[in-house]
Amino acid sequence: MDLQVVEQVAELGAWIAEGGVVILSGAGLSTDSGIPDYRGPSGSARRSTPMTYQAFTRDPIARRRYWARSHLGWRTIGEAFPNDGHRAVAALQGCGAVDGIITQNVDGLHQAAGATGVVELHGNLARIVCLDCGDLTAREVLAARLDEANPAFDAAAVAINADGDAELDDTDLDRFTVVDCLNCGGMLKPDVVYFGETVPPDRVSRSFALVGNARTLLVLGSSLTVMSGRRFVLRAAKEGIRVAIVNRGVTRGEPYAGLHIDAPLGIVLPHLAEVSSGPVRI
Ligand SMILES: [Zn+2]
Repeated sequence: MDLQVVEQVAELGAWIAEGGVVILSGAGLSTDSGIPDYRGPSGSARRSTPMTYQAFTRDPIARRRYWARSHLGWRTIGEAFPNDGHRAVAALQGCGAVDGIITQNVDGLHQAAGATGVVELHGNLARIVCLDCGDLTAREVLAARLDEANPAFDAAAVAINADGDAELDDTDLDRFTVVDCLNCGGMLKPDVVYFGETVPPDRVSRSFALVGNARTLLVLGSSLTVMSGRRFVLRAAKEGIRVAIVNRGVTRGEPYAGLHIDAPLGIVLPHLAEVSSGPVRI
């Protein structure tokens, strides 16, 4: 760490020591787990357009292709392990410094590292929801059904995006067989928020409540490009709550942040967890 980063980390450590930290995490936290951040500086720009809710529900060809890509993408996301950053966040929560965790990630890695009470703004790829009856299925169960329905499907994914969407040739995609809800025959969808879809209101209100009671809002690995995350930074700034950002590269939260540490999360977070592991000083 260069001197400026060392000083910034020390200042953030002092903020964390006061307690009342609410974390807002994004894709940059999971890149060290092998899940690329297609918006961040380390991620290549994605080649395919993200699936929208409208296309998924109305266009059978788009849905078939999505499921084929998502089925392959799950092999990467489903096998990913939490990294030092996730473990540091769980440790900070364990020592009482963190009051809440809001994540834009759909990989479940905060919980896999031991964090609890995580608000998953955009859902979780490990769950599948029936759009007709609301039945929830574990992803593993659906993956087994898709494997069974597609014995010859062996296309190789050329790239995996952060939302578990692999990229494939259209000819491979069009041979894929989609399966329906076992309960009612309805349309199945990963339980994640698509582009063009709104975050369920209960998750938004829980997040605003956490932020409103925070002493510090700590943004980890998000460029705050989308409003679903940025609005919490705007709310914190409006209410005079301190904002700190740890992210590689520029973010759209810059004007509101008292601290922006442009350094790898895998180095900064374990250091913060280590210096914060003693009793919380008020
Ligand atoms: Zn159903």
